[in-house]
Amino acid sequence: MTGTTIDSLKTVPSGWINGADLHASGATHRVIDPATGNPVAELALATAADVDAAVAAARAALPDWSRATPVDRSTVLARLAELMDANAEVFIAEEVSQTGKPVRLATEFDVPGSIDNVSFFAGAARHLEGKAAAEYSGDHTSAIRREAVGVVATITPWNYPLQMAVWKVIPALAAGCAVVIKPAELTPLTTMTLARLAKEAGLPDGVLNVIVGAGADAGAALAGHRDVDVVTFTGSTPVGRKVMTAAAVYGHRTQLELGGKAPFVVFADADLDAAVQGAVAASLINTGQDCTAATRAIVARELYDDFVAGVGEVMSKIVVGDPHDPDTDLGPLISFAHREKVAAMVSRAPDQGGRIVTGGVMPDSPGAFYRPTLIADVDESSEVYRDEIFGPVLTARAFTDDDDALRQANDTDYGLAASAWTRDVYRAQRASREINAGCVWINDHIPIISEMPHGGVGASGFGKDMSDYSFEEYLTIKHVMSDITANVEKDWHRTIFTKR
Ligand code: NAD
Repeated sequence: MTGTTIDSLKTVPSGWINGADLHASGATHRVIDPATGNPVAELALATAADVDAAVAAARAALPDWSRATPVDRSTVLARLAELMDANAEVFIAEEVSQTGKPVRLATEFDVPGSIDNVSFFAGAARHLEGKAAAEYSGDHTSAIRREAVGVVATITPWNYPLQMAVWKVIPALAAGCAVVIKPAELTPLTTMTLARLAKEAGLPDGVLNVIVGAGADAGAALAGHRDVDVVTFTGSTPVGRKVMTAAAVYGHRTQLELGGKAPFVVFADADLDAAVQGAVAASLINTGQDCTAATRAIVARELYDDFVAGVGEVMSKIVVGDPHDPDTDLGPLISFAHREKVAAMVSRAPDQGGRIVTGGVMPDSPGAFYRPTLIADVDESSEVYRDEIFGPVLTARAFTDDDDALRQANDTDYGLAASAWTRDVYRAQRASREINAGCVWINDHIPIISEMPHGGVGASGFGKDMSDYSFEEYLTIKHVMSDITANVEKDWHRTIFTKR
């Protein structure tokens, strides 16, 4: 499906609480299509009082859902995956209109990837195992119970609204938790559709609640709420740290998926053509608004000039334009304000030693478009090399030997993702061991899969989305130790007193 568009302004609810639309009374907010600048939806923002109601609904729904059998939870999630598949066109239309992402990306990546993730957790919900019971002390049977952690507060960004909601919400539901999610206010539509379909799939009211509010208001209220048990967050590093600080007031657990500045290391023996092609794809995906996007090409001196020329040439041919057109490669940035930020960072690069090989310009069109940009010869201290730009911008630097390559790759506060391009198995092994990142690709950069974890280190946060590893965020481990002697006088009592 590629043709559906949202072309009239709709008034939409402010959230979803206890299985019903929320009509809040906060400030009026418009969801803007960044490809045109036109509004596609209008709503009243939810506020801190609405957050209280959503958390109360989740708290009330928690006991029954956490005690539902794994097969009951699995059945709801499997049904949800079917309903999402049946409503794929709705998700695609909403996602394209609210983010401006190309319809090809939404159709082939965002929506099927989200559905696959729900299917994965429908299965995984039935595989929550603890350690086998055994008599470790000799006098007791020890067993491990893995129990739902409770009410999960989650806050998500605008770049992949549906996928980020699914990555946070679905493992929590599979584990038996109740959830309150606050999507980015720029892109609330697909999260709301997900919640409605979850009810249709049989999810009990109150188990999943949505709050569409401003970050500094509803977001802050949710992150710092007394009655939640865990706060999970995907977004920028500065906001993630605020969220962690707010959650720390009540000592609540957090999971943070934050920014990235992924290195793309091209060794001297690499397939140059594959590296050029891979660098363009991995830096431009989602208009570069991808936390794992390739942003720092670090290239062997011998290949450097050819790599820069090759990437520049491929980038210059990228089709930027109407995201609804299946022939479009690159859509707009999320907003005009974000485009200003990206353009300002690129415009300062030449003063810091960078050479703009291609791009660095805004096409003459009404949307928030920005041409694919390659900045070569960047200085290691320059802003475009160190800070997250979150736009269609790749920087490039040369390295002298393998030690220098790995040093440069690790010369960042972030640690979300990285790639190494080489045909030498020993180089590949060394790079995968020595690069500090949650994921290292070899001869590719970007693919993700539901069975495998996603999450970073350092300024990119901690904890995992996707895969069985994500259950660690949503479960507690309880040790149950049962006396098997039936003795009044236990052996260990002699360490306390000898005679009664
Ligand atoms: P952001 O940090 O500005 O906002 C993320 C969410 O936090 C939004 O819902 C926002 O409303 C909310 N928020 C803002 N202020 C808040 C506050 N004080 N308290 C609580 N919530 C608040 O991020 P963004 O601009 O929406 O998304 C882009 C960022 O997300 C980039 O840095 C990108 O790298 C990161 N990201 C990371 C991953 C990952 O898996 N590591 C995935 C996608 C995006």
